[in-house]
Amino acid sequence: MAAEKARAIVIRTFPFGDTSAVVTLFTREFGKLRALAKGAWRPKSGFDAALDLLSICQVLVLRKSSGALDLVTEACLEHRFRVGRSQAAFLGGMHVAELLDTLTADGDPQPELFDVACSTLRILSASRVAHDPAHSANELSDGVVRALLTHTELSLLRLVGHAQSLVRCAECRGPVAASGRVAFGMLDGGVLCEGCRRGKHSVVAVSADCMAALRLLAATSDAWKSLGLPPAVDGEVRAVMNTMLSHLLGRRPRVAPLLQPRSRPTSSRPA
Ligand SMILES: [Zn+2]
Repeated sequence: MAAEKARAIVIRTFPFGDTSAVVTLFTREFGKLRALAKGAWRPKSGFDAALDLLSICQVLVLRKSSGALDLVTEACLEHRFRVGRSQAAFLGGMHVAELLDTLTADGDPQPELFDVACSTLRILSASRVAHDPAHSANELSDGVVRALLTHTELSLLRLVGHAQSLVRCAECRGPVAASGRVAFGMLDGGVLCEGCRRGKHSVVAVSADCMAALRLLAATSDAWKSLGLPPAVDGEVRAVMNTMLSHLLGRRPRVAPLLQPRSRPTSSRPA
């Protein structure tokens, strides 16, 4: 069987034997796959940094029958994930990898999902110039990283069929409260009107400012660049997204809780 070409994001990597690796790749062409890269960690390996975690690369893969690991025969680095000193950007990359891994099934190609993830990893990587004073203007603040990740999460969820209804009631499509706190059904796929929220479990009351931020981040592709949320709203947006992901994944996400901004004294009520 001939090796097939694909563009891939490395979303997991484990050592195998002394010098080989088992990698989980999210490919544009074939979706998620697990493959053995023989000699990947040998000094002067032909794979170089192409199979490092969160690298974007072009690979040649020998697809095996179900159950067996595929084989990566060549990998060529397209973009290396480097974030300098930004812990938020590093965690953001790890979070994107976790979402690609948990929201997708093996062998289910979703090119749009790949493109969204690629774009976010490249933007997060741009903060690697932070240590260079000549480029300090390019550094992404932690708040901007969080806004980018919220935009990314909402896009990924939409693409895998979990679009959140942020304007109309997720249940009856009717209008929701125009001001004050809005009921958000974590198991219902979005906001709920007064009538539909009754008797529902896992409903949180979300502030109008938080809802406005979520709507903007979902609807506008570059709103994350200049949103500049006050700390209380920034923290609330993150808390809502983390709770939503916990319900969708059926468990607490590993990385997302680490993205929660450190709590500051605020006057806001908990969501
Ligand atoms: Zn309703």
